[in-house]
Amino acid sequence: MRGSLQHSMKQKVNTKTSLWIYYVFSVFCLALTLFFVSHFASNTVRGHVVEYVRKDLIEKAMILGESIQQSIRYRGAEAVQECQHLNANLRQVRLLLLSSDGRLLCDSMKDDDKGAADAEGTQNDEGIDFARRTEVREALLGIVSSKTIFDDSSGPSFIAVAAPLRDGTEVQYVLRLSMPLTVIEQELSSTILRMRIAGLICAVTLLAVATYLFRQISPPLDEIRLGAERFARGEFDERLPDYRIREIAALASAMNRMGAQLRHLEEVRSDFVANVSHELKTPITSIKGFVETLQDGAMDKRGDLERFLSIISRQSERMTSIIDDLLTLSRLESARMPELLSISEHRIKDIVLAVFDTCAPIAQEKNISLQVDCPVESTFEVDRSLMEQAVLNLVENAVKYSGAETEVTVKVESGTDTVRINVHDHGPGISDQHLSRLFERFYRVDKARSRTIGGTGLGLAIVKHVVGVHKGSVSVKSTVGTGTSFTIEVPRLARV
Ligand code: ADP
Repeated sequence: MRGSLQHSMKQKVNTKTSLWIYYVFSVFCLALTLFFVSHFASNTVRGHVVEYVRKDLIEKAMILGESIQQSIRYRGAEAVQECQHLNANLRQVRLLLLSSDGRLLCDSMKDDDKGAADAEGTQNDEGIDFARRTEVREALLGIVSSKTIFDDSSGPSFIAVAAPLRDGTEVQYVLRLSMPLTVIEQELSSTILRMRIAGLICAVTLLAVATYLFRQISPPLDEIRLGAERFARGEFDERLPDYRIREIAALASAMNRMGAQLRHLEEVRSDFVANVSHELKTPITSIKGFVETLQDGAMDKRGDLERFLSIISRQSERMTSIIDDLLTLSRLESARMPELLSISEHRIKDIVLAVFDTCAPIAQEKNISLQVDCPVESTFEVDRSLMEQAVLNLVENAVKYSGAETEVTVKVESGTDTVRINVHDHGPGISDQHLSRLFERFYRVDKARSRTIGGTGLGLAIVKHVVGVHKGSVSVKSTVGTGTSFTIEVPRLARV
């Protein structure tokens, strides 16, 4: 069950849809929406107009009916004549008067040749046809009735209304008004045409915008993909251009930064390999040279033998310390570092004093006094051996590079959140141009001097990494001729 679920999820992720599909789909949806909107809008407008005309016709029928009745009632006029008289005032409307038994008494179309009235046909002068129509039948029953007839067999669509003319309660006549829909259609068609044109303009504009967006998004994404593939092949020279869409431009610039970073890392890596080879090659060449000299006869001279052997021993120690430092660095850089740390609470002063013990012999040699200024009970949570190594590297450097008869001070400031360990010497100092690169691997201010002193060029790089795994920082201040001051700052409580 679980397996099949995972399988189907995997399949889902693997089914990729091209941007093209989204584009075509959105254009299709757009066309469909516009079609329905325009269809719905024109139907609605048509419906409203038909309804308006229907109400208008009913109103007319009521008014005309009332006026005919008034004339009959008060002036004794004949209904038929009244109708004929009214015909002249009606435009595009056909007026019929039917008697209560359904006979056609008056037809405006016969008197007046109104083109529009042709629509209903004239075949039945007797009015039998009209008497059968629903609206007339309803009017004969005393109801004002209206009907919209769409394209029935007897001709085009029209609206008809019929109103009863009463004499008291009896229906005496039926007045029927009708108007063909073609008249309305003609008036409507220009409005609908304008609506359709507006819809078309909308569609074309939206299509243009969609196409523009597609062209702005799709090719840049392809270019960015190609750029990423170039980076993967190790080609970092070509940068991605600046794009117009902000999000894509941000992606491209992030890719460019990544490319620059990768290039930098690549350079650092190849520099590092070159440096390691070079650093190891020097002592090996020297050892090889002395061994050969000894084999060539120098072995027989006791003095030379001892001197050369001590050089060989020094060079092997140098190689050992380079390899030890490299191993420490690689351990510090390894991703599994947090598990490898053994963090616990330690007294800061204990660590500083342990470092002083290690440095005592070389300090004594140069008559350098080691001073510590540290609150006795201050503690912090660190990996002891790593922190001791970092402080040792700083104190050792201070002693190594300072002149004889000077003083090296370690000052500890313990705050609530952070601990600062400052190692200060009165040595030669380091000029500003070197400060930014000082913590790089194998970076030395004075190569020859560092080598003779026995430095590997990795000491400060190790300090930086140790401080890094403790989520702290290291900084340096130095004045040439006056001295140097390195400061390690780490959180008092471990956050790893
Ligand atoms: P090294 O093994 O050569 O001492 P480091 O990484 O410890 O390597 O130091 C890098 C360089 O920084 C040294 O070669 C030296 O030139 C300079 N340096 C470090 N500490 C001091 C100091 N206290 N005074 C003067 N120069 C120093």
